[in-house]
Amino acid sequence: MVIYNGRVDPYHPDKSRYECRACGSRVDSGGVCEKCGSKSLVNIAVPRE
Ligand SMILES: [Zn+2]
Repeated sequence: MVIYNGRVDPYHPDKSRYECRACGSRVDSGGVCEKCGSKSLVNIAVPRE
């Protein structure tokens, strides 16, 4: 059981590939945010350059 409780985590390219634009949580599956239920997930798997 993992609780982030609003903590901002560093970027984990090997784990989470989606970021919720509503609460900022990173989740590893698209669709609905695990934390707040928002559907505003953004795919962040693309390399940052
Ligand atoms: Zn969220």
